[in-house]
Amino acid sequence: MKAFALASPGQFKMFEKDIPLPGDNEIQVKVKVCGVCSSEVAVWKDMDPSEPLFLGHEVSGEVSEIGKNVKRFKIGDRVTVLAEQGFAEYVCVHEERAVPLSDDTTYELGLGEPLACAMNATKRTNVQIGDTVAIIGLGFMGQLILQGVKLKGAAKIIAIDTREEALELATELGATHIINAKEDVRQTIMEMTNHQGVDVVIEATGTQPALDLATDIIKIRGSLIIYGYHQGPPRTINMQQWNWKGLDVVNAHERDPNVYMEGMKLGIKLLEEGLINMSSLVTHIYPLEEVNKAFESNVSKPRGFFKAVVSL
Ligand SMILES: [Zn+2]
Repeated sequence: MKAFALASPGQFKMFEKDIPLPGDNEIQVKVKVCGVCSSEVAVWKDMDPSEPLFLGHEVSGEVSEIGKNVKRFKIGDRVTVLAEQGFAEYVCVHEERAVPLSDDTTYELGLGEPLACAMNATKRTNVQIGDTVAIIGLGFMGQLILQGVKLKGAAKIIAIDTREEALELATELGATHIINAKEDVRQTIMEMTNHQGVDVVIEATGTQPALDLATDIIKIRGSLIIYGYHQGPPRTINMQQWNWKGLDVVNAHERDPNVYMEGMKLGIKLLEEGLINMSSLVTHIYPLEEVNKAFESNVSKPRGFFKAVVSL
């Protein structure tokens, strides 16, 4: 089968590999779609791997083979899975690492892994009904958690981003206020909140300036959710402010596969019930052979861009 791996910075190469065979409790999935995750883009740009690095963890596809103990799936079933090395024609996963997709859910939209991330992070936000929530960064993942906190009962949702089209989409998806990050966000938010700051801040960019802004606009005893993926040099935080404000700080990434799967089931359920909109978010679809272009689009962010996937 064809499989794509990072061979040098910014360069995927095609490799010919054996089709993986499922173990007794595994399903083999013919990959239909694999999403490009922003967490992989920094790796793609900068890393010079000593051996080919197979990426891709946002996979949906069709069950093409099953192990002898598999109970929950049959050949032909449509699924989304928690997998690795998904920029390839086939992957194998334990049957517990797959969630079925309804016939109406396309493979492009039924991307369980990012939905799982967003739903698990939403659950870990301490959003109470009626709260004011600020979200810094309205990329693909920011737009997903925006919809999550809306469902949790946030009354005011303030979307903060530099891209006008991200703010426009945030409004469509439930933001009640938008602020362009190029403006004086701190002052605007203080005026909006009677100089108290907001109840919950979700940092969804993975950058130092967003952490600084979050620290300034959160209220005393507020809840700060670190949802962005922080790579590179260690961050600095204003501990005096965090301490004085008595903040609750949650790093809302999930590493326990069982919890991950609960988030995936919830995300797919909400998607299929029409409570989460993905169709405005998956904007750029490339053939597998153009996986490099898909990654480039995540960097250049052409007009209308929110999410790139490769499709087989
Ligand atoms: Zn991801």
